[in-house]
Amino acid sequence: MGGTLSTSALTLKRLNVRAVVVPLRRPVIAGIGRFDQWPLVLVDLETDGGVVGHSYIAPYRTAAVPSIVAELADLANTLHGRSVAPFDAYERDLTALNVVGVTGVSMIATAAIDMAAWDALAKQAGLSLAVLLGGSIGPHRAYNSNGLWRHEVSTLAKEATDLLQEGGFSAMKLRLGNIHLKDDLAAIAAVREGVGSDIDLMVDFNQALGLGDAIRRCHELDEQGLYWFEEPIAYDNLRGYVQLAQQVRTPLQMGENYYGPRDLFTFLSAGAMHYAMADLMRIGGVTGWLRAAHIASAAGIQFSNHLYPEFSAHLMRVTPTAHWLEWVDWATPILAEPMQPVDGQLTPSASPGAGVSWNETAVAKYLVRP
Ligand SMILES: [Mg+2]
Repeated sequence: MGGTLSTSALTLKRLNVRAVVVPLRRPVIAGIGRFDQWPLVLVDLETDGGVVGHSYIAPYRTAAVPSIVAELADLANTLHGRSVAPFDAYERDLTALNVVGVTGVSMIATAAIDMAAWDALAKQAGLSLAVLLGGSIGPHRAYNSNGLWRHEVSTLAKEATDLLQEGGFSAMKLRLGNIHLKDDLAAIAAVREGVGSDIDLMVDFNQALGLGDAIRRCHELDEQGLYWFEEPIAYDNLRGYVQLAQQVRTPLQMGENYYGPRDLFTFLSAGAMHYAMADLMRIGGVTGWLRAAHIASAAGIQFSNHLYPEFSAHLMRVTPTAHWLEWVDWATPILAEPMQPVDGQLTPSASPGAGVSWNETAVAKYLVRP
């Protein structure tokens, strides 16, 4: 290019940020709390050429929305007028935010902008995100994560049956971590009563147990034929996970709470897990996912997503050790074209971009003032 710098054809003009709080079909009840509604922060990254990149992030707590919106506005100021280049922005954002910490709100805001930037680049190229990244469009196996929280055990058999039928699934995730073993066993038995024992049943403790109790509980549940044990103890207890990983026979699944690829590297290199997953909001958006997925693949560790099925379905197509897609429909109320699972599989949108766009009528209905 004759010595001139080659840059993306897109220049960031404006970042529009809105927040909605949508109803959940089934309340989320787990070791980390109870959630009856689900806040979503919607990002529209407007560019000079008219292309608009979209993303959403789900920060669990409605009260946390204003701090995230404020950080997004802060970052938008630094990006204004710059070429849309997610790798550059990711480094610049985290360098700038280092002084207040590179996890938490800093990483969440960085990730939201990153995802919208990748969506804009794919749209500009006229390609779906998976294709822009060098992959192809196709289905990937998924498990239904839209229920089986720590609800009343008498409801679990029926709910498991419903989950199976909601998209031809053969895998689902049950939340455990009750105080008493007998209650965890009763929950497993109820699900199996509803859907039999041929399905793949993942279980998630949502960090509910202390290390000693987790060692005991995991040994007691090792005979249950469960697919994975997810986060039995506090996610950052590295030494505890190393111990657990050596002791249990059911594979340990970890990673939804890792902030950035280095967290994954730290746990993988310590031998603290058997399976890994990433949450786009915390791992650092598409850019963070790509880096984390290659760390996992170099280590030979199978890699799944946590939430954000719309973007994740694209990214699984370029993840060498792609494992399971987690299917949640929690953003469906405000999406113009929500994904539909078919035969227990999810296929990323073939339209240009990531396939995330808003049902503006619904957004207006659920809009909250941050
Ligand atoms: Mg989990």
